[in-house]
This record gives sequence, C-alpha cells and structure tokens, in this order.
Amino acid sequence: LNSGKDTMTSADKEFENNIRPAGIDEFTGQAQLIENLVIFIRAAKLRGEALDHVLFHGPPGLGKTTLSRIVANELGVSIKETSGPVIEKPGDLAGLLTSLGPRDVLFIDEIHRLSTVVEEYLYSAMEDYRIDIMIDSGPSARSIQINLNPFTLVGATTRSGLLTAPLLSRFAIKSRLEYYNAETLKRIMLRSAEILKVPITTEAAGEIARRSRGTPRIANGLLRRVRDFAQVLNDGQIDLGITQHSLKALNVDEHGLDEMDNRILSAIIEKFKGGPVGITTIATSVGEEPGTLEEVYEPFLIQEGFIKRTPRGREVTEKAYAHLGKTPPMHGMT
Ligand code: ATP
Repeated sequence: LNSGKDTMTSADKEFENNIRPAGIDEFTGQAQLIENLVIFIRAAKLRGEALDHVLFHGPPGLGKTTLSRIVANELGVSIKETSGPVIEKPGDLAGLLTSLGPRDVLFIDEIHRLSTVVEEYLYSAMEDYRIDIMIDSGPSARSIQINLNPFTLVGATTRSGLLTAPLLSRFAIKSRLEYYNAETLKRIMLRSAEILKVPITTEAAGEIARRSRGTPRIANGLLRRVRDFAQVLNDGQIDLGITQHSLKALNVDEHGLDEMDNRILSAIIEKFKGGPVGITTIATSVGEEPGTLEEVYEPFLIQEGFIKRTPRGREVTEKAYAHLGKTPPMHGMT
C-alpha cells in the first residue's frame, strides 16, 4: 500500500490525473469542508476579490492537491503549483509570485518544509500582496518594493503541527481533510471504474473501499492492480471473487492497514505489553518521527479502533490483538 507520493512513477501520476475530479461537483466526500468552500468561493467571486488564503491539512492521499486545483477551477483562475522544498531562495518565491495574474492561485504542497527565510518572505506577500526584493549587492545593494496582484495562497500539509504560528495565522481558511468511510470510497471506486471503462460490481467496489485505509489514492491504486488481474484472469470483469483473489496476491491487509500501521501495533503489543506507552517511545521503536506518527498514522488507527489514547499513553485494543492473530493478556484489557 502506498499512500505517499514520493515513490510515484510518471505512469502513476498520469493515471492519477486521469481520474482526478476536476470540478467541485465531481468531488466525493468531505461534505462539510466542501459546503464551506463553495460559500467562500462564491462570496469571493461576488465581491470580485481574491479568495482568502486556504490551508488544507491532513494525511497523504486524501485529496489536497485535487481540491487546490478545484478551487482554482471554480474561481475561474490559473494555478501555479510548487512545493515547500523546491523553493530554495526568496528569489524563487519572488519569481513565482510576480508571475501570478489577478486572483490566481499559488499552490504550495508540503508547506511545512519551507525554509525560514522563504517563509518570512511570504508573510508580506500574503498580508499586503507586496514583496521587497534586493537588487545589486555590495555598496550599491538596495531593496525595492514590488506590488503583486491579489492572489490566493493554497497551502497543503500532512504536518500542520510543524507550521509556525505566524504562518498559520495568515491562512483565514483552514480545512482538515478526514479519512473517507468505506461507503464514500465505494462511490469513488465506481466513478474511477467508469472513467477507466472497467466493469465492476458494487460488492467488488466495496471490498476495495474497505481495504484502502480510508484513502482515495490507495483505493485508486488497488483498483488499477485489480484491473490487471481481472484482465488476465477474468475477462476484464471485476467481481468480488477476482477482487479478493487479487488483494490476497498483493498481500493487502484485511483492514487495509499498511506496513507502518502493522509495525506500530506489533511494537506496542510485543515490546510494551499492549501499552500504555508514550508516542516518542513508539516512534523510536518503529524508526519514525513522533510527529508523523501522531499526524499521519495514529488518526486512522484510532478512528478504526485499533489503538486508543489514554492519559498515560497509547494502548492497543482487543481488535489490534485479533488483527495480528495474537491473544490479549487476561487482565487490563478493554
Ligand atoms: P498528498 O498530500 O500526498 O499530495 P493529496 O491529499 O494531495 O495527497 P491528491 O493527489 O489530491 O491527494 O489525491 C490522490 C488521488 O486520489 C488522486 O488520484 C485523486 O483523483 C483521488 N482523489 C482524492 N480525493 C478524491 C475524491 N474526493 N474523489 C475522487 N477521487 C479523489
């Protein structure tokens, strides 16, 4: 299972772009977020102003990039896309900002990875649509002020906890993307299958949905693999049988947990007797950053009832023991 973008090939990206919803009506799920966004977009358009700056935060693969493009699309403006680590110097950012037309969208993915100097540079751009740039160097160095077109910065991050207070406060609209429930993911699967022109039964769509970690990117990726199995073994028809066969062959977990999820559960059970144990201790034992565990992995494990938060730390539930085929200790279990 791969919910991140780091390992995506260009074929993966092309596949993703083909089935990416382009309009707000095609976007499934995240109902409250969408409802609000529609209002803010409409209001900005009525006033003829740039939409306020928007921050999308939440785990990977839930649709932050998709939504950013939808925002630009609905506003009827252009979008420039970049990401935090790509903007190395203030000059890079200045180049981007000065190229924006009136009310355009600048999308910065992984905005928590902006360098401090670039971030500070962004403040005045966001607040007053103005930047200071240095020209020349040495004794003749001076700074000139450039006015920018009013624009909307759309930032995306999986790690909102890493954003500084001054940056956070400059986003008037902050929206958290939630994991999708199986019913919503099933609808997304049916839509993707229709675009790919592969026949799929509702049960099969539901099975993929249930085993995709609440994440459209994972679900779409699995659909693509199941389609291969169906093509070769089942006349191209995706039914429940071929789906279960494919997911088994692909080693996809019954609940759609990924490798790190399972490592976390095993670590708590095997090394810490089921907990309670602190997040930092778990992080060290699975070789991941505490913040990533907290913002990327833990929310899903809690939502699905595999672990719970207690005042003394994290504890696994009986469901986690059952999932890993282990027997819970006799006492102290809930
Ligand atoms: P990352 O944070 O890793 O960049 P992301 O949150 O930006 O991920 P996207 O790239 O927007 O995720 O979406 C991943 C894939 O999931 C895309 O192929 C997109 O088409 C699909 N997708 C996401 N949300 C939805 C949705 N609500 N309906 C249909 N497809 C969706």
